Amino acid sequence: MTSARRLSRVLVANRGEIAVRVIRACRTAGLECVAVYSDADREARHVALADAAVRLGPAPAKESYLSIPLLISAAQKTRCDAVHPGYGFLSENADFARAVVGAGLVWIGPPAEAMEAMGSKISARERMRATGVPVVPGALIPPETSGSFKEISSLGFPVVVKASAGGGGKGMRVVGSEAELSSAISSCRREALSAFGDSTVYVEKYLDSPRHIEVQVLGDMHGNVVALGERECSLQRRHQKVVEECPSPAVTPELRSRLCQAAVEAARAVGYVSAGTVEFLLEPSGAFWFLEMNTRLQVEHPVTEEAFSVDLVALQLSIAAGERLPELPAAPSFHAIEARVYAEDPDAGFLPQAGRLLLWVEPSGPGVRVDSGVTAGQAVDVHYDPMLAKIVGVGRTREEARRRLVAALRETVALGVTTNLSWLGRLLESDPVVRGETNTGLLETLVLPALLAPPDEVFAAAAAVLSGPAAAASGGTKSFRPGPFDAPFRIGSGA
Ligand code: ADP
Repeated sequence: MTSARRLSRVLVANRGEIAVRVIRACRTAGLECVAVYSDADREARHVALADAAVRLGPAPAKESYLSIPLLISAAQKTRCDAVHPGYGFLSENADFARAVVGAGLVWIGPPAEAMEAMGSKISARERMRATGVPVVPGALIPPETSGSFKEISSLGFPVVVKASAGGGGKGMRVVGSEAELSSAISSCRREALSAFGDSTVYVEKYLDSPRHIEVQVLGDMHGNVVALGERECSLQRRHQKVVEECPSPAVTPELRSRLCQAAVEAARAVGYVSAGTVEFLLEPSGAFWFLEMNTRLQVEHPVTEEAFSVDLVALQLSIAAGERLPELPAAPSFHAIEARVYAEDPDAGFLPQAGRLLLWVEPSGPGVRVDSGVTAGQAVDVHYDPMLAKIVGVGRTREEARRRLVAALRETVALGVTTNLSWLGRLLESDPVVRGETNTGLLETLVLPALLAPPDEVFAAAAAVLSGPAAAASGGTKSFRPGPFDAPFRIGSGA
């Protein structure tokens, strides 16, 4: 599979900020792009930005962004020659990749076989163990008739029961003792079946507050695979990333080179092509263990782009066109930290919020990057993931990047829908985060510094907007229960 193929028009099979990001990269590469949308996204930013847009169907993702036939037909109707899946939705679906290739289109992603090999956590673990990459100690669940959890208990408690097809922090149960195992396995199986259509679960040793470190890899069709440093993603809520950075304050050049080597071996073992991420858990001793591989672009890819001065989506496009990987930097030149801005209420258990975004003002300035898919006046819909934007601070040092990010968060104005903006600001000002002493358990116990008063401009903007006609028309903010999003929509499994 080494043939070069000129691309001219790309279907962007996604929505929100990642659709906007991919459209921009296509444009920079001189490619036309076609957006797709559901009825809820008729006026969305990605639709306005693309050269053409195709309506897929009603708001529920199953009838729009998750429909393989609708997406293939949209690509054919608009004479696209390639499909970029973004992240979430169908980005890790090997059937979609095959359908795209079967329709004579170029899939901007890894081969379907590599996606399948890494799609099941159980088979990915076996593959990695065989390759010599250290894997978190674990065990398969014996048949119910055996009635014995001997192998699991020998791992030592706590353990975590995990869905083999899991993602986005779903389908995981931490278990403190053998007595709790049976019921945790049953409930995890039920959750896995409803979220992923696959009830297969297994058990891993639950490591004590490790760091989550992941390595960006890139492979081309000529057998070259390289690693582009690590990202630290230890600040998580319910096993989902909230703040990510590159490089990790815990990784020395020597550790980086070992992590990168393990990641490259992992990617090579499955014949990886395109951008992908190999995730590890790092213990204070310096020992690290393979967790999983995400066979797509990650939500947090901008921190690698900023730290290494590269464009990962542009690289995906050139790899898909059959080009060789260029010479890439061996080490990061900058530090970058990203915060995910969600429509959610931190004071109400992070309950997702819906409503109309009456005012949305993005921060700017040196060392600030914003990846967003929203505009003022837009409805924040209950059907999709509540992430509004990613704000990145970039600096020559970690502290410069952190300060720029805090300032940028304070400058961001979101009115009409409650967001986690001020919570993020407080998190980034907390002592452990300032010192870079984070781990995946930190957010469970961390007490955040007091809320800073919002700047005066926020009140002025609020007054201006709320006295105008938009406020009367909107009906204000409303909350909704975090129901099952109707899709196994995975962002950042870590995504
Ligand atoms: P998902 O695919 O749902 O994102 P992962 O397997 O990538 O799940 O794990 C997500 C997060 O859950 C990790 O970053 C880490 O914080 C926590 N986690 C997962 N497995 C373990 C483990 N064995 N020990 C400790 N923490 C874990």
